[in-house]
Amino acid sequence: MKGGCLCGSVRYEASAAPLHSGFCHCRDCQRATGTGHSCYMIFEARDFSHSGELRSYAVVAESGAPSVRHFCPTCGSTVLASGAPGEERWTVFAGTLDDPSEFVPEAAIMTRSRQRWDHVQGELPEFSCMPG
Ligand SMILES: [Zn+2]
Ligand SMILES: [Zn+2]
Repeated sequence: MKGGCLCGSVRYEASAAPLHSGFCHCRDCQRATGTGHSCYMIFEARDFSHSGELRSYAVVAESGAPSVRHFCPTCGSTVLASGAPGEERWTVFAGTLDDPSEFVPEAAIMTRSRQRWDHVQGELPEFSCMPG
């Protein structure tokens, strides 16, 4: 799977399938994306590489864990996210894929923050907060 930001300065490539994929309806994702939810895929760091300059913004997530969003300083696309330092995983936002049809959501999380106007087709397992 390959993708990148709107202007093309940031590029990434994953050599294996994601561990998890889904929709996150948390307020942080709503603010960061300007929409009702983010479309996330989580990859093992060893299966993932990226290039191009990124700027980062860190917050403490609702779960209490650090959450860092990484975006292109030129076009502002939020391409990646990561957790605590040393956590060997990358979150990729699926709208940045070269072929977004490769995204297969498996769950909807943080649905307690989901808005009435943001319902998507299909039946997915739902978690009102962060699953296990
Ligand atoms: Zn860009
Ligand atoms: Zn979220």
